[in-house]
Amino acid sequence: MGGSRAIVDEGWIDSSRQVGLTGKITRPGLYLAAGISGASQHMAGCSAAKTIVAINKDKDASIYRYARYGIVADCLDVLPELIKAIKA
Ligand SMILES: Cc1cc2nc3c(=O)[nH]c(=O)nc-3n(C[C@H](O)[C@H](O)[C@H](O)COP(=O)(O)OP(=O)(O)OC[C@H]3O[C@@H](n4cnc5c(N)ncnc54)[C@H](O)[C@@H]3O)c2cc1C
Repeated sequence: MGGSRAIVDEGWIDSSRQVGLTGKITRPGLYLAAGISGASQHMAGCSAAKTIVAINKDKDASIYRYARYGIVADCLDVLPELIKAIKA
């Protein structure tokens, strides 16, 4: 699990888990970006992922330029359903 600088700055997640230019570079098979706008500084750390799936309620968010699959929705609605489906 990683996060953007925005949530590191808010204290939601430790800075050691920040993804991006001034954080970690990651290259996973699947990068699930929930509530990520797609700022270049963040994408510098994850755009090499094989598949990016984005959940963002703003259909014009930059993340959709990088994502193979996109869900235009509130991630607070989608994530619990996704977790339920994975556990089933
Ligand atoms: C020199 C420099 C270095 C930087 N280095 C980094 C770095 O290493 N890593 C990094 O991440 N950033 C870095 N930044 C900051 C970067 O520019 C962005 O500000 C940051 O990536 C934005 O994080 P975010 O996408 O979480 O937040 P925001 O840009 O605020 O975007 C939040 C997104 O979430 C969506 N959203 C909100 N609520 C919901 C919801 N309930 N459901 C679905 N979607 C929702 C919104 O539509 C929005 O698109 C750096 C900036 C500078 C100037």
